Order: sequence, then C-alpha cells, then structure tokens
Amino acid sequence: MLMVANWKMNMDRAAISNYLDVLSREERWSRWCSNGYRLVLSPPSVYLDFLACEIRKRELPFWVVGQNVCAHEKGAYTGEVSVDMLRDLGVSGVILGHSERRRLFGETDAHVAAKTALALSRELVPIVCFGETEAERLSKEHAQVWERQIAPVWKEVLKARAAGSETPVYWAYEPVWAIGTGRTAAIDDIREVAGSLREIFGHDCSAGLLYGGSVTDESLAVLVEKGTVYGFLVGGAFLDSEAVLRAFDNLTHHP
Ligand code: PEP
Repeated sequence: MLMVANWKMNMDRAAISNYLDVLSREERWSRWCSNGYRLVLSPPSVYLDFLACEIRKRELPFWVVGQNVCAHEKGAYTGEVSVDMLRDLGVSGVILGHSERRRLFGETDAHVAAKTALALSRELVPIVCFGETEAERLSKEHAQVWERQIAPVWKEVLKARAAGSETPVYWAYEPVWAIGTGRTAAIDDIREVAGSLREIFGHDCSAGLLYGGSVTDESLAVLVEKGTVYGFLVGGAFLDSEAVLRAFDNLTHHP
C-alpha cells in the first residue's frame, strides 16, 4: 500500500528536517515497509534533493517523488524540470496531471500523456491523477471525464509496455470536489472508478488504484477496511508528521 504525501507548495528545509525527525522516532518503518506499507513524500521540486539526502542520512525507507515534470526532454524551457533531472536526484517517480496543474496551469490530457511516456522511458514511476469536477458529477458526465483523461495516457503506457517497460503506473482518482474540501468520495464512487478503469484497460487495475481527496485517519480506515484501493494521495493532512504516524499505526493494524 502506497501512502503518498503531496506537500504541494508548502514546507522549507527547517520544516522538512523537523518532519523527518518526528518520523525517525518511529522504529517500525522497516517492518511496515516489508509488510507492504510504503510512505512516499512529494516535496516542491527545489527540495527534492534536500529531502532525498536527509532521508538517506536517516536511513528511512521512504520514496521521494516529484509533483510535476516537463513534457519535453531538455532545452529552452525556462523554469521547467526534466525527467533526467529527477532521475539524477534519485527520485523514484512523479505525480502527473494533478487537478491543480490542469486547472491553474493549463495542463491538458495530451500533456499528461506525453509526460507519462517520458517518465516511463526513464523508469520513473508515474502517479497519474484524474477526476471530475462537481459540475461534471452532477451532470453525470464523470465516467466520460475519466475516460477522456485516462485513454491517451493508457495508449502511452501500452506503447511503453510494447517497448519493454516494466515500470509500474499508479492511477490516482482525485475528484476535484473532494480536494481540500473536507468531503471524501464514497466507497461506491471508488468502486465505480475501478469498474470504469477495468473497461478502459481491459483488465483489473486494483493493484494500481489510489484515492485522493480530503483523506483523514477516519476515512482512511473505512476505505482500507472495504479493500477498495491500493493506496492514497494525501495533501493537507500529511503536512503534519504526527498524522502520518497515526495513519500508519492505524493502517498496519488492518490485515
Ligand atoms: C491532493 O491535492 O492531492 C489532495 C489529496 O489534497 P487533500 O488531501 O488536501 O484533499
């Protein structure tokens, strides 16, 4: 089970050190990890290197992933970060197509597909976000939205597989109406997602499905108990390292 903490544009070096100091006091990380529970931290890109070094220094079994990457390999793209740069820092993967990137920075389905292809070409694990707005859900277009967002990415995944890529891909269902709002999707909504993905992919993707949107310890416990997803993307709640510890403590009590 993957627990991805998306820090968004928060934290600084002092806060990161503090966060890791709190987590380091816990002695069960290796055990949790060998039982399949992995903490993944996603800091702002300027702190990827610092975070990766601090994690190595403390010998913690966490993965570090980027929050975004450029859709081009290299060259005149001022302000961007490339897949090779992420690789160079020892980053394991990258969150792609987050709704904030789509909504605030004009990222399109085609961009997300291109970024996924590039990530897979460098063995960077893509965590591909998708999800409908409230208006799309109310007008019952949500399943079409998922398909529109995922189909072009899936095409690139199939091409990469045909070229020999075995890098896993995670699909993070993040309904826009649930992000940072305190409202979480219901189990039935997530089951509907799993069904739609099965249709798009032609096979069961439950091993790669994550959920994100106002996840708390309580909602986590319910979703895990119902066995719907392989992991979670957590924003606001996981800015607090104590909440991360509480979540792992709860989670690992489930079989
Ligand atoms: C997110 O933005 O990826 C997210 C899940 O945020 P929050 O948990 O704060 O809703």
